[in-house]
Amino acid sequence: MNFPQIDETHDPARSSWVERADGHSDFPVQNLPYGIFSPQGGAPRAGVAIGTMIFDLRAAAEAGLLPAPAAAVLDGTVLNPLMALPSADRVALRRRLSELFSDARWRGAVEPLLHRAADCVPHLPAAIGDYTDFYVGIHHATNIGKLFRPDNPLLPNYKYVPIGYHGRASSIRPSGVPVLRPQGQRKAPDADMPEVGPSQRLDYELELGIWIGAGNALGEPVPIGRAAEHIAGFCLLNDWSARDFQAWEYVPLGPFLAKNFQTTISPWIVTAEAMAPFRIAQPGRPEGDPRPLPYLWDEGDQAKGALAIDLEVHLSSARMRAEGLEPLRLSRGPASSMYWTAQQIVAHHASNGCNLNPGDLLGTGTLSAPKRDGYGSLMELTEGGKRRISLPTGEERAFLEDGDELALKAVARADGYVPIGFGECRAVIQPARFLHGIRADN
Ligand code: MN
Repeated sequence: MNFPQIDETHDPARSSWVERADGHSDFPVQNLPYGIFSPQGGAPRAGVAIGTMIFDLRAAAEAGLLPAPAAAVLDGTVLNPLMALPSADRVALRRRLSELFSDARWRGAVEPLLHRAADCVPHLPAAIGDYTDFYVGIHHATNIGKLFRPDNPLLPNYKYVPIGYHGRASSIRPSGVPVLRPQGQRKAPDADMPEVGPSQRLDYELELGIWIGAGNALGEPVPIGRAAEHIAGFCLLNDWSARDFQAWEYVPLGPFLAKNFQTTISPWIVTAEAMAPFRIAQPGRPEGDPRPLPYLWDEGDQAKGALAIDLEVHLSSARMRAEGLEPLRLSRGPASSMYWTAQQIVAHHASNGCNLNPGDLLGTGTLSAPKRDGYGSLMELTEGGKRRISLPTGEERAFLEDGDELALKAVARADGYVPIGFGECRAVIQPARFLHGIRADN
């Protein structure tokens, strides 16, 4: 398995002359995530986050500061061409950026091309052709399965197949864009007929996103041993879910309108290169579980294919924010609760000849830890709405209410290395708006 290598860009001793980059919880000089942003009053362009600043990559390329061939693909409003480059070219860009930000001799040339991130607008980093969501968080799959089938939570295919479904790319939005409460069909278990209206069981799902880099041609599977070469990077992903619609619509073809009204991602691509120090062994399967079929098995993937990332979810109600209260942490847990690695997900997706393209996005599925304090959705935390959560204002939550802000966080950690974060992945829930041209609140 060709995972990116650790090099001088990961050196914990490397510091930056950019103010407040050293010690920054998300974007120290060891991270260098790519995104698309608009500076105040400017058009969208490529950038890299460093501390509290964003470096204008398009302007840097025009100024001759960046190496070819990366410099030639940084003039657009999406990063698909950068993601499609071979790893060696992306590594060359990363090493150059690390040098520009750490060597004070470059300060005079670089500083004028920095923008305060707080003054900029983040955009989606890529034109996302296709989005697929998986279900590899085994504790989540077990918890959700138990709600439906207490004696038999995991279906027989789960331990052989990385289960997934095709999602909706058009409704993916970057952090900060509000989420309108969706409207749809639901049927209460004791009701004779379904009804339509705003979701009463709006939930989030804590997931990682996997950005596809180099694609594969239609009809040509990606061997598991080459799968890492097709992953450009990672982000946070919130797969907003209307549980009442989901329960009614999902048989027999799986999630549809319960999921596709919006998906929120963190706008920065934390590169596969940046993640090099944070690769860990895939946890061994429990005694008695089957070994993956050969097309999903690779020794190198098992040795280094998982990611040492700590995940958190925070909630604040409108009243909490009005009263100046800190968000409530709903959960904290590791990303290592994935039953399948990112590489297995990619190899499986392409195993039938399905072509993946640069800028495609794959969700892992909800990543819940084994215990309740690490559950990655309200469906699990509240046991389907039965066990309400108390907020510091005295308010209670079974599911998300209008005005709630939900924020996901991720930090990659490893002994001897500087931790790197994924940046913001948050959104506020707004009231449902229109149904068949009639305002829902009338
Ligand atoms: Mn999901």
